[in-house]
Amino acid sequence: MDWDVVIIGAGAAGMMCAAEAGKRGRTVLVLESHHAPGEKIRISGGGRCNFTNLHASPAQFLSANPHFCISALSRYTQQDFIALVRHHRIGWHEKTLGQLFCDGSAVQIIDMLLAEMKEAGAQLRLNAKVQYVEKIPSGFTLQLATGEVLASHALVVATGGKSIPKMGATDFGYRLAQQFGIRLTETRAALVPLVFDGELLEQLSALSGVAVPARVRCGKTSFEEALLFTHRGLSGPAILQISSYWREGEEIAIDLLPETDVLEALRAARKQNGKQSPHNFLGTLLPRRLAKEIADTSEYAGTLGGQTEEKLRKLAAQVNDWRIAPAGTEGYRTAEVTLGGVDTRDLDSKTMQAKPVPGLYFIGEVVDVTGWLGGYNFQWAWSSGWCAGQSV
Ligand SMILES: Cc1cc2nc3c(=O)[nH]c(=O)nc-3n(C[C@H](O)[C@H](O)[C@H](O)COP(=O)(O)OP(=O)(O)OC[C@H]3O[C@@H](n4cnc5c(N)ncnc54)[C@H](O)[C@@H]3O)c2cc1C
Repeated sequence: MDWDVVIIGAGAAGMMCAAEAGKRGRTVLVLESHHAPGEKIRISGGGRCNFTNLHASPAQFLSANPHFCISALSRYTQQDFIALVRHHRIGWHEKTLGQLFCDGSAVQIIDMLLAEMKEAGAQLRLNAKVQYVEKIPSGFTLQLATGEVLASHALVVATGGKSIPKMGATDFGYRLAQQFGIRLTETRAALVPLVFDGELLEQLSALSGVAVPARVRCGKTSFEEALLFTHRGLSGPAILQISSYWREGEEIAIDLLPETDVLEALRAARKQNGKQSPHNFLGTLLPRRLAKEIADTSEYAGTLGGQTEEKLRKLAAQVNDWRIAPAGTEGYRTAEVTLGGVDTRDLDSKTMQAKPVPGLYFIGEVVDVTGWLGGYNFQWAWSSGWCAGQSV
């Protein structure tokens, strides 16, 4: 049988696209290499799926062309997805910073998408790995790992990014783009913990498990969220966010007390109670283990009263403007997303169709559009999937 539309990948973007194309009367088949659909939805948001963000707008997306996502995000918005979730009577709540999570399980979102697909008559085949695609005059042929060959008029590539190879993530979508002469932008792991080496790593790993609210900056971009010390370096939302902006060789600047002018606080404390030690005073503002690591050194030995102005400045800078250079990231093994991908110069922003190859579409994470942490990446999957679904 020839299908109107074949979609490679039953992830967030592929399932949304399938339901929309099916509603428009197209015959739709989704091919998924895994034995279950929506695996990344299932594990997302700690099992509760941060499915969108109330504040989603183009400003929270990275791309070589920051304007590319505007059309799709405005054609299918977070409010549209919230309406769909409501329609399926799935309970949800705002956790923080506009992030919406299921009250129950992320599986509810997968079931919702499957129900939408079923109602629209879209079919799903699991354990169906696409190995090879060829262009024919009427559309495309696809060869599965089993050797079976299928034909379709339109082909949608929704194969996701390279993050978490253990879950079967591959570079298939990128290779397919290249095969059809579609350009790629450089890909790298994003929303990923940062790793350190040498003495700095010793210092950080000694604090493993400590979490603080912090402002982390790289260049002109900063995020104020939780920061977590780990045995390999730094993690937590503030670090994952900045990892999308950091590049090898650059420093990051961390403010461990963004609400406090620590120099002023140290000066005041020196005046009021000069007998306390610098680390005991910092321990009133920061977790004790952290205060000790920063200030319990021979450099700040003795009392606050005995510290020179220069030393107070240096100590304050270590808290308000701590500059460190990561050695790298944990890579795709733990990254939540892949930055970069199919070059948006070769895609139509309204439909996601490849300009050089009519009938071929790229949606979701495989495209060079990457969101911040906080439900933005799913919103891109829904919006881009919906747009392609209206066009195929
Ligand atoms: C641990 C973790 C937690 C996350 N939490 C959140 C969150 O809470 N909120 C948020 O917004 N984002 C989150 N993300 C990011 C989000 O999961 C992705 O951005 C999103 O799933 C991308 O959707 P997609 O449909 O483009 O790709 P995917 O969901 O990755 O789907 C791609 C599908 O294609 C299939 N496939 C690949 N190649 C082939 C082939 N050759 N043949 C057949 N099938 C193939 C894959 O098996 C997969 O099922 C998280 C990511 C991770 C790793």
